[in-house]
Amino acid sequence: MAKLDLHCHSTASDGALPPAELVARAAARGSRMLALTDHDCTAGLAEAGEAAREHGLDLIRGVEISVSWRTRTIHIVGLDIDPDCPALAAGLRAVREGRVERARRMEAALAKIGIHGAFDGAMALCGNPEMIGRTHFARFLVESGEVKNVATVFRKYLVKGKPGYVPHQWAELADAVGWIRAAGGVAVIAHPGRYDIGRQLQEELVQDFKAVGGEAIEVVSASHTLDQTHKFALLAARMELLASAGSDFHAPGEGGRDVGLTQDLPPVCVPVWSRFTPPRATPVAAN
Ligand code: AMP
Ligand code: MN
Ligand code: MN
Ligand code: MN
Repeated sequence: MAKLDLHCHSTASDGALPPAELVARAAARGSRMLALTDHDCTAGLAEAGEAAREHGLDLIRGVEISVSWRTRTIHIVGLDIDPDCPALAAGLRAVREGRVERARRMEAALAKIGIHGAFDGAMALCGNPEMIGRTHFARFLVESGEVKNVATVFRKYLVKGKPGYVPHQWAELADAVGWIRAAGGVAVIAHPGRYDIGRQLQEELVQDFKAVGGEAIEVVSASHTLDQTHKFALLAARMELLASAGSDFHAPGEGGRDVGLTQDLPPVCVPVWSRFTPPRATPVAAN
């Protein structure tokens, strides 16, 4: 395992732990380098940075931007960003503004199938009201006893084609990558294995992404099987993309990997942290 994790969420978006607790948890598990990558929002970074100093952990400032690419929603992670960059801050603000209105439409869609009060219920579970999202609706439905767990809520209600799903226009790919670069960061295609696209579309996504300045792809992710990890490692090498690794941790006990450590990158990969300022070595155990 590598003592690093370049993808996780706090209460600033749809994670369950406040930034300082998230950092403490990662440090306690032996992590040395952690990127906080909340959805469309950098509000947790200051608190995370302070906690990281206390724990002697290298905090990489990050974000995960929601993007509409062709007919799909994809996620682009930005790593080693300056959150005070005006272009990035304005871009993220615009993306967030659509979320509350979308949540209203989700409430109306759920009311049609007899589920009432979902907006207020989800809001009550949301640490940052402008970041309301599907995870908060899912947790509300679990807490109200409607469904047994978050994964089941998504499968039955919240994914495309299900009654609580509403379409939404997120950021353009070129804009998201542009904001990340303006902020001095590296753009990364998040969890490519989650996009249910064939080889052809995958290549087109990578080409579009590179054409606008994207540089890396998540090779190691809790969303990936070992097979996918190797497939994306080869894709990264062939397309000359740097490789990233992250848990995409949201909450203890909500499935997926815990925060702080990730599987080693396959040797064919060039680590994205070699592109950080200053470049980082892969953190390994001290002797
Ligand atoms: P949103 O940005 O509001 O559409 O919410 C997207 C978030 O929902 C993702 O970042 C995940 O945290 C969560 N999510 C998406 N699909 C699933 C799923 N199938 N099971 C559990 N969580 C999911
Ligand atoms: Mn999420
Ligand atoms: Mn994501
Ligand atoms: Mn994520």
